[in-house]
Amino acid sequence: MAKAKGKTVELISLQCSECKRRNYTTKKNRKNTQGKLEFMKYCRFDRKHTLHKEGKIK
Ligand SMILES: [Zn+2]
Repeated sequence: MAKAKGKTVELISLQCSECKRRNYTTKKNRKNTQGKLEFMKYCRFDRKHTLHKEGKIK
């Protein structure tokens, strides 16, 4: 039985900084992650690697 002590893991989306499409979803642990997440990811719409930034889901 897992105890739910608040919400430490948050589901986020990774949004392309060039075309603004949300290409990826990932999880973020708020306990050991501070600030906004940024990753270089492949965007199939731009057909190249672009910077993807953290965004909210819904
Ligand atoms: Zn893109």
